[in-house]
Amino acid sequence: MAKLVIHPELIEDPQILVDICPFGAMELLDDGTLSINAACKMCKLCVRKGPKGAVTFEEDEAKPAIDKNAWKGIAVYCDHVDGVIHPVTFELIGKAKEMAKVTGQPVYVLLLGSNVNKQAHELLHYGVDEVHVYDYPELARFEIEPYTAAFCDFIEKVHPSSILTGATTVGRQLAPRVAAHMRTGLTADCTILEMEKNTDLSQIRPAFGGNIMAHIKTPNNRPQMATVRYKIMNAPDYNPEEKGTIIHETIDPAQLHSNVTVLDIVKKPKEDMIENADVLVVAGRGVKKKEDLEMLKELAELLGGQIACTRPLVEAGIMPAKAQIGLSGRTVRPKLIITCGVSGAVQFTAGMNNSDTIVAINTDPAAPIFEVANYGIKGDFYEIIPTLIENIKAQKRSLND
Ligand SMILES: Cc1cc2nc3c(=O)[nH]c(=O)nc-3n(C[C@H](O)[C@H](O)[C@H](O)COP(=O)(O)OP(=O)(O)OC[C@H]3O[C@@H](n4cnc5c(N)ncnc54)[C@H](O)[C@@H]3O)c2cc1C
Ligand code: SF4
Repeated sequence: MAKLVIHPELIEDPQILVDICPFGAMELLDDGTLSINAACKMCKLCVRKGPKGAVTFEEDEAKPAIDKNAWKGIAVYCDHVDGVIHPVTFELIGKAKEMAKVTGQPVYVLLLGSNVNKQAHELLHYGVDEVHVYDYPELARFEIEPYTAAFCDFIEKVHPSSILTGATTVGRQLAPRVAAHMRTGLTADCTILEMEKNTDLSQIRPAFGGNIMAHIKTPNNRPQMATVRYKIMNAPDYNPEEKGTIIHETIDPAQLHSNVTVLDIVKKPKEDMIENADVLVVAGRGVKKKEDLEMLKELAELLGGQIACTRPLVEAGIMPAKAQIGLSGRTVRPKLIITCGVSGAVQFTAGMNNSDTIVAINTDPAAPIFEVANYGIKGDFYEIIPTLIENIKAQKRSLND
């Protein structure tokens, strides 16, 4: 990493440098010395405009190139709570298998827990090469210190080139800690992953509010770490036959010590999550008032689904944040999604464009939502939805007759 170096012997009036810095990063301390704080943007104005040689920009010596041959395979962290494997794990296995075809290297799963033999066998039905298991009472429940220790132990022993972790509550805590420990990079919430023949991983994710897709690489660090949200990748089919090997890893239990004492575990009541719905009816800013949501709820219920929304409805306080789809909301992938009065901003579509069937209702024929919709209806949803509700009810009645 490059750094700025201050040369006090060449500075007569430190205030000149303080005044030059547009970001307030150059500070004059009480003892009269200059210091650069965290606000520094490395714009190098102080280097260019300050007294000659007073501040210099110095590059660190180039890091020696990493031996990529020493790091092989793609590992997936098995996310589970009380033995129930989170479906994002299978989706990541699907992606890892696809990418492993490019390099011809194995796919591993890392399973941490206690009495997890059943789960290890379950993973073998999804076509992974090796399941590495750390089965210790200390790992019975997710705790950050022992889980990090076991995860890092696995990396040091197996040397996987890439590691995929679900962007779940556990994954979002564990992956950054492991990455920091291994002094490697981590890209959060990737939406696309591409593997190159030389095992470099292209980690692609929306940035700057979804206006650009950033391609992030860590070519001189291993492992390369990425988190991916649930419902972004495709899970492989379940194979009735087990394939692959279970490897029982050992670690000194002293390393699994936790400084955290869990006093109690309180289960949250089960909520209906929009991520789990097969059918979603989405309310956009075209909804004029809160009471109008009732008609969309009725349609959702008739179709056995739930109501969701765009961000403006959350900001207006008429829908809860947990119902928001999009970049700053949830990612969904239902079988059917019907958007009502939604324009289709990229920040919204990023959270739903993998849905099986997208129906969009909008009065504006130029609305971008029609670019991602499978079926577009140009019209006023205040007229279309009541008719649709009546038709569905009539059909249900005729089926019951
Ligand atoms: C960093 C960042 C993150 C963001 N994250 C999200 C996010 O996670 N989710 C999200 O949704 N947004 C997000 N946004 C906001 C996003 O850019 C859009 O502003 C938002 O999605 C627009 O919501 P909308 O489509 O409901 O409203 P509008 O863009 O106002 O569209 C309303 C649409 O309704 C149509 N319409 C009006 N009346 C009717 C009617 N009676 N019948 C049919 N059609 C009608 C109009 O033609 C129009 O196309 C984010 C923005 C930023 C900058
Ligand atoms: S590099 Fe730019 S931001 Fe940093 S101290 Fe110098 S002038 Fe300020």
